Amino acid sequence: MRDYEIIIGLEIHVQLQTRTKIFCVCKNEFQAEPNTNTCPVCLGMPGALPVLNKKAVELACRFILAVGGDINNNSLFARKNYFYPDLPKGYQISQHERPLGKSGTIRIETEDGMKEIMLQGIHLEEDAGKSFHLEDSSNIDFNRCGTPLLEIVTMPVIKNAHEAYLLLYRIRQLVQYLEISSGDMEKGALRCDANVSVRPQGQHEYGIRTEVKNMNSIRGVERALSYEISRQINLLEEGGFVVQETRLWDESMGRTDTMRTKEESPDYRYFPEPDLLALELEDDWLEEIKETIPELPLEKRDRFVREYKIPPYDAGVLTITPQLANYFEETARLCGNPKQASNWIMTEIMKIMKDRQISPDELNIPPKNVADLIKSIENGTISGKIAKEIVAEMAASGKAPGEIIEAHGLEQITDKKVIEQAVEQVFRENPENLKRYFDGQDKLFGYFVGQVMIKTEGKANPHLVNEILKDKLDGR
Ligand code: ADP
Ligand code: MG
Ligand code: ZN
Repeated sequence: MRDYEIIIGLEIHVQLQTRTKIFCVCKNEFQAEPNTNTCPVCLGMPGALPVLNKKAVELACRFILAVGGDINNNSLFARKNYFYPDLPKGYQISQHERPLGKSGTIRIETEDGMKEIMLQGIHLEEDAGKSFHLEDSSNIDFNRCGTPLLEIVTMPVIKNAHEAYLLLYRIRQLVQYLEISSGDMEKGALRCDANVSVRPQGQHEYGIRTEVKNMNSIRGVERALSYEISRQINLLEEGGFVVQETRLWDESMGRTDTMRTKEESPDYRYFPEPDLLALELEDDWLEEIKETIPELPLEKRDRFVREYKIPPYDAGVLTITPQLANYFEETARLCGNPKQASNWIMTEIMKIMKDRQISPDELNIPPKNVADLIKSIENGTISGKIAKEIVAEMAASGKAPGEIIEAHGLEQITDKKVIEQAVEQVFRENPENLKRYFDGQDKLFGYFVGQVMIKTEGKANPHLVNEILKDKLDGR
């Protein structure tokens, strides 16, 4: 088999979180009663005129500036004509010539290091409605008609399915940080069409590409691309050729199937939208938008490494979302021990959030409670083992650790005399094992530690238990 080079370019749609739609004042809501957020403009009634939503432009510009793209101070809207039941106007207002943004890069971290994915263009457009099919009827919900979308198109520079995964992951993270979208692919707030071609290593011209649609998770995009890449390579290896076409990913079957070929693909007859003026933007306004760009994920991660002296891996995990990053910073500040804050959040706390599928903001454990827990371990009030049980109780009841420690009498036993008594009792109850130990079965030491811990309901300070046992067993 020959070696192949893979080439992928993504077209990504991001739903912008505006209060109203892009060309009318209907609400931009995710789950409203079907057809309640509509008006003559978004239903495409003759004579109704669109008026551009400034907020949508602002959010789009925030993204373009954040990825270092160039904003066109004078961009144009265009009509993209096609017929579809959920597109009552018969055209979509989009941008074609002179789009709002071009170039810019998004950084991903591959196994070979940092890579910059260059963007081809970024533009604004309106979304279409949604069809849904019940047992004996087909229905259309026009609520989504005219909601704002940001389309991000990459250059054909993505080299494998995993890089596409990493890029989407980063874009989701970016739109969340920039507070322009939920980025939730399952809910359609982030959508991706993937263009892919392969060519034998060394061949100069690109191979024929296919466009794969219908993936509804980031992992789904990676799976669809892996499948499509093998399909294309197998075709070429068998002496066949790839047909330029649009293919649909079938997640349950794990394969792509032809949707339409190039011959059937629509000619959109783009022309400038006559009902909208050219979009002129002032530099001062763009400067103001620039000011609203927060610290971005990779910068934040680097700062965490520098400032809190935590490993890059930890910092990467803790900056997955801005909410999690804030949660960590607040905990670290309150307990004064960033490494412990990181440990507890990355294990116990994140596990609870994952189990409940919630974000830090929805968690009933405020950073102060995690910080107090860490302080209780550090000052010897409780053991790390008991602390884990306390976390479970904190999650169940929302109570503060101090309250739980007091209510259940969980303070660690650090009184040597009390531990010695427990040790003596364990010896009395286990004369056989004690004899075996003295006969040379050293590994029974751990057994005694365990017995003392059981006797003290896990509350004895483990360090002291070890010390006292050593003293009594070996120190004679
Ligand atoms: P179209 O107008 O048909 O959508 P574009 O030039 O806008 O085509 O490209 C769409 C996407 O396809 C871009 O992300 C681009 O990087 C990608 N692309 C273009 N050529 C190829 C190719 N030969 N292989 C893979 N991806 C490609
Ligand atoms: Mg396209
Ligand atoms: Zn409307």
